[in-house]
Amino acid sequence: MDRRSFLQSAAGTIATASLRHTEAFAAPEKQNKMIGIQVGAVSFADEGVAKVLDECQQNASVDTLFVATFTYGRGIAGRQVPGQPLPDHGSQKYDTDTFFGGAYTKVHEKYYGNTAFKSFRAPDLGDYDVLEKVIPEAKKRGMKTICWYEDVFRRGLPNIDKLEEVELSGKKAVTLCFNNPDYFNWLQDIAEDWARSYEIDGIMWGSERQGAFSNVLGASHGHPNPMTATCFCEFCYAKARKRGIDPERARQGFLELAKFVEASRKGTRPVDGYYVQLWRLMLRYPELLAWENLWTSSLRDAQNGIYQRVKTVNPQLDVGWHIWHNNSFNPIYRAEQDLAEMAPYSDFLKVVIYHNCAGERMVDYIDSVGTSYFADVPKRELLEFHYRVLGYGDEKGIAELAAYGFSADYVLRETRRAREGLDGTKTLLWPGIDLDIPTAAKSAKCTPAGTKAAVLAAFHGGADGVILSRKYSEMRLENLRAAGAALKELGIVRS
Ligand SMILES: [Zn+2]
Repeated sequence: MDRRSFLQSAAGTIATASLRHTEAFAAPEKQNKMIGIQVGAVSFADEGVAKVLDECQQNASVDTLFVATFTYGRGIAGRQVPGQPLPDHGSQKYDTDTFFGGAYTKVHEKYYGNTAFKSFRAPDLGDYDVLEKVIPEAKKRGMKTICWYEDVFRRGLPNIDKLEEVELSGKKAVTLCFNNPDYFNWLQDIAEDWARSYEIDGIMWGSERQGAFSNVLGASHGHPNPMTATCFCEFCYAKARKRGIDPERARQGFLELAKFVEASRKGTRPVDGYYVQLWRLMLRYPELLAWENLWTSSLRDAQNGIYQRVKTVNPQLDVGWHIWHNNSFNPIYRAEQDLAEMAPYSDFLKVVIYHNCAGERMVDYIDSVGTSYFADVPKRELLEFHYRVLGYGDEKGIAELAAYGFSADYVLRETRRAREGLDGTKTLLWPGIDLDIPTAAKSAKCTPAGTKAAVLAAFHGGADGVILSRKYSEMRLENLRAAGAALKELGIVRS
């Protein structure tokens, strides 16, 4: 391409991009916006499929169901988390004794020839097959169904030990390794099973994990023990060697890093300070970052693998990813989420932008890194630093943040940033919106006004849709109606 035609095509790209933004701001009703909601099988079993779909449609004009078809976690499956107030619909009992997790659909054995992990049917609801029940009712209403599964497992399942990661301590982890062929293949096999066995419209997968570097540093909400960081298994060692990374040097570096973090948590300050000591270790062991990058690129390989398999079965199906909330807190994790790089194997991205629970989660993150490599920085200043480097506005200070949560301005800024990150790609942006995600008793709770503001902000930021999260069984109907009110105000729905 010569310089002149390059300039012309560049100008064309910019013009198209700004036109799209103008349209998104001025007239969202002209576009085909997706209104999604995450629902677990237990809600359909408890309340009846028709009732759940009616509530979602009537209150919030939902047109796409993200049905939790596989997980061992309570974040997207099961009733309300025990200890949290029950919402104003559904069974008024906790499922403490019955929740187990697994696949909430039939397991068609023929698709699992390339993996040792074959026994994962959820026992919670007997032989209830959530897709068999939901899809016909959804189709009658013109609603789409997307299978939604996540990277959460439990110990003791048949053969699962063969797929488990290895911790820095040398013990087997509860998490599974993307570089282990039995897990890499399984992730694709289950997607193929759904794609061939049911009339679905797409697949979404999520992994709320990060590599060993951020895990040893405690750079997330939650304070993981440094020695539980992963992965140091034989498959990761082999992949590392192929890339010219010395696994033993890497492990040695991580043991030094873990020692540093454990001492920091006890208040033992290195002679030159915490932050300088981190840099010293990074310079001495460049393998630390190489190993972190190995883990993240393995996650990308897993996503790409799922994408290619599903497209081979049916190119019409939409395939996309849930991006973990840590993207809003840890700059290292954010650096690993290069949306443009993910775009070629992403029809859509659900970037988690949960405004309300973000408050207590950010405080938790600051508490964690504020006692490891940032232990020299007062937490009030450390939070301000993160607001600046992450591009946030005037959110609350450290003392009040958990009680207030983040504002709708955070949703606006994060949606805009993701939109710009995806510029020039065809990937659709569907931010995840917080509807009653559980928080501690004294932390902020979702309100109709806050929910409505968050939905408005997502569309003002240029979203192509929203995914109401995390699960219907924890949402209150007044907040669902508030999301619906925002959509009416935007002219996205008219009824
Ligand atoms: Zn591994």
